[in-house]
Amino acid sequence: MPKVKHRHSKMRGRKRRTHYKATAPEPAKCSQCGKAKKSHHVCPYCGYYSGTQVKKIETVEEKKARKEEKNKKG
Ligand SMILES: [Zn+2]
Repeated sequence: MPKVKHRHSKMRGRKRRTHYKATAPEPAKCSQCGKAKKSHHVCPYCGYYSGTQVKKIETVEEKKARKEEKNKKG
């Protein structure tokens, strides 16, 4: 096992670690609509992933209609 030759202070180690920061993930461009999206995620704007639609994105009107339908039942 290697041993510490010259131990330095807590402050010194902490000062060095102030430069360790998490970097923000790079936004990827959607190949379908061109909007910025998370890489390896389905596009939240058009519902496409690698050229195929995998999720249906509702328009504001569709969402309203669905909500009204729900209210009628309950
Ligand atoms: Zn898209």
